[in-house]
Amino acid sequence: MKVILVTGGTGFLGSNLCHRLIENGDRVICVGNNYTGRMQNVGDLLHNSNFRFIEHDVCEPLSISDVKIDQIYNMACPASPAAYQGSHSIKTTKTCVIGTINMLELAKLHHATILQASTSEVYGEPLLHPQVESYRGNVNPIGVRACYDEGKRCAESLFFDYYRNEGIDIKVVRIFNTYGTNMDPNDGRVVSNFICQALSGRDITIYGDGRQTRSFCYVDDLIDVIVLMMNSEKGFTGPVNIGNPVEFTISELAEMVMAKISSTSRIVYKDLPSDDPMQRKPDITLVRTKFGWKPKVKLSEGLDKTIEYFKTQRGR
Ligand code: UDP
Repeated sequence: MKVILVTGGTGFLGSNLCHRLIENGDRVICVGNNYTGRMQNVGDLLHNSNFRFIEHDVCEPLSISDVKIDQIYNMACPASPAAYQGSHSIKTTKTCVIGTINMLELAKLHHATILQASTSEVYGEPLLHPQVESYRGNVNPIGVRACYDEGKRCAESLFFDYYRNEGIDIKVVRIFNTYGTNMDPNDGRVVSNFICQALSGRDITIYGDGRQTRSFCYVDDLIDVIVLMMNSEKGFTGPVNIGNPVEFTISELAEMVMAKISSTSRIVYKDLPSDDPMQRKPDITLVRTKFGWKPKVKLSEGLDKTIEYFKTQRGR
């Protein structure tokens, strides 16, 4: 039985990961400060003897001395542009940089393998399409998204310095747009916004003209490959793109959601946020070749599951 620490464990991805690890028979230490995470995401695990929750902000050093940690998944960081920008932007950078140093130090102490949840945002507004891991990106270092983009880029550089200088066993995955159960209805990302707007008959807010694209991966597919990556042989560091390469415009997504919900909502167009990438789609050749992995859940099927989940969240 492995002892596995998950930072951001009450968040969207972190909580899905905690559930998977418990199902796999591992012992999980879930660390979170609940800035964007929610205790209800792990509520059913709280009485499981293999699960332990520690309320903690990764910006502070973390000491675990009663048990030897085998693996650390560093998932902590708000991931919705609405949550990481503005008044929380400096904290976002601190979480990515100071939080990552603290977790790398913990990995060093425990001789643990550590995985970084990096992001497609390291590519910024990509000039290469689809994006391959060797592409160095096109990030605006002084823009409103920089706290996240540059924060995550710095986290990657820290990972590789700890690998080169300290011999830490690292794994870096670059996560593209993901959706599914345990998203916060107020998260602000496009899938949760459109579904919640359509369910409640509110206006569907398309930012810009809706011709920008994203590729949406269902959370279960993503968790499958994150776990595969963590358990890959030492020295296979990544970075590895993970996501669903099927690309949709935001208008297409809005139409799909409205058709599924038979919504009375109408579409309204709002200003495109600054530095909002026009196109994004992962090249997943590396992960496919390495693990034989490819996403199983089509957008239509994943949206059905996510709509059912959000129906259960109404009034909570
Ligand atoms: N978006 C939108 N309406 C919304 C929320 C987002 O049109 O209510 C757009 C957003 O401008 C972006 C895309 O949907 O072009 C994906 O946004 P999201 O915040 O989900 O993730 P991002 O890929 O920007 O990190």
